[in-house]
Amino acid sequence: MLDRNNELNAFDRDHFFHPSTHMGTHARGESPTRIIKTGHGATIVDRDGKESLDAFAGLYCVNVGYGRTEIAEAISKQAHELAYYHAYVGHGSEASIRLAKMIIDRAPDHMSRVYFGLSGSDANETNIKLVWYYNNVLGRPEKKKIISRWRGYHGSGVMTGSLTGLHLFHNAFDLPRAPILHTEAPYYYRRPNMDQSEEEFSSWCAEKLEEMILAEGPDTVAAFIGEPMLGTGGIVPPPAGYWQKIQAVLEKYDVLLIADEVVSGFGRLGSMFGSDHYGLKPDLITIAKGLTSAYAPLSGSIVSERMWKTLVEGSDALGAIGHGWTYSAHPLCAAAGVANLELIDKLDLIENVKTVGTRFRNGLSDALAGHAHVGDVRGEGLLAAVEFVKDKDDRVFFEAEDKVGPRIAAALAERGVIGRAMPQGDILGFAPPFCLTEDEADLVVARTKDAVASVLG
Ligand code: PLP
Repeated sequence: MLDRNNELNAFDRDHFFHPSTHMGTHARGESPTRIIKTGHGATIVDRDGKESLDAFAGLYCVNVGYGRTEIAEAISKQAHELAYYHAYVGHGSEASIRLAKMIIDRAPDHMSRVYFGLSGSDANETNIKLVWYYNNVLGRPEKKKIISRWRGYHGSGVMTGSLTGLHLFHNAFDLPRAPILHTEAPYYYRRPNMDQSEEEFSSWCAEKLEEMILAEGPDTVAAFIGEPMLGTGGIVPPPAGYWQKIQAVLEKYDVLLIADEVVSGFGRLGSMFGSDHYGLKPDLITIAKGLTSAYAPLSGSIVSERMWKTLVEGSDALGAIGHGWTYSAHPLCAAAGVANLELIDKLDLIENVKTVGTRFRNGLSDALAGHAHVGDVRGEGLLAAVEFVKDKDDRVFFEAEDKVGPRIAAALAERGVIGRAMPQGDILGFAPPFCLTEDEADLVVARTKDAVASVLG
């Protein structure tokens, strides 16, 4: 029985290979380890009994908040009844079938079926395979390239790490791999021409996309993937008109649209889906995180009716689809998903995202926008970011080795609030649980102001 933190710490340093962690400093004990023991609402508690307000909901995933007994009980009930059976050759559990229906009922009208996976990364792998299969069924074997965006985040597998447009996820991994291309990020704050209006910048992004499609040859470009609002790449809402202009280009060249809603799905922006929020009409939607609020790992690829019809033709010609995971539609995860979506409805949490989200973002803006080193405060719903700059007029970055973003996140953590230093640029991100109260929102704002002052004056 491991009952002492220092013993656990030693085992951790010696045996646990952590994701997204500096391997050397962690193993040598030069950076802190933190063992989280429990949580309730928006609060987590570590093994030393220290409480923190988790204003990033884990990795923007614990949307309903910690300690929800309804979900724990649903998982337990399912485990007692049937912990596992596979979903191959037409098998399923009551929970997985019910959940598929609940997802399609909530998704945009033209969506038709859901394929279950375990993570956002594997759901995007599925999506790319479905796009290729679709074009093969249609007799277009050359139409296979996928266009993603710089600063997009779509996972860290071989294919999905290639789709991701952040250097950290490519460096020394020989990524990106063909046939993935990256186009401009819809990052208005860092637009190349400061005279552009949002609409003009959106037109420029669409022109760049069209240039890329024409240069590659439209017959070779299969799909475009994007988060409705950029997440890990900096929490950046799309500029006005962006999705309308991008979709016009995609339609013109018969390029499919994959909306990666791993973060935005199930309410984070104040709408059930980001696609509804910004007027996207995707062929595929990727979901994960908020589907179960991370009480169990579950993801999905939601397929439009149009694509589904072609996929069925493929199966009629070729036989069963050669794509499946052992844990697809895992009953425990599906039970968690059903209970989670019921809870979001019952507690009217998306309404809370709208009201508390607005208060929170306005609060951040009032507290910080005037600071000499705060270049931008932005967001939507309960997703927000503060971007720090060395020179506000010219939007000059701090030196990377100054680690301004991580230092502010650390100062905030010392003050009992967890935000996230986003991986590229000095950007502090927030994505609190949907149950955040007004008082908690105000507290996050006050502590952030204090943390920023402690690092930047
Ligand atoms: N897509 C988006 C938009 C994400 O934010 C993430 C993870 O943060 C992923 C995909 C990958 O999900 P996972 O980490 O579950 O593989």
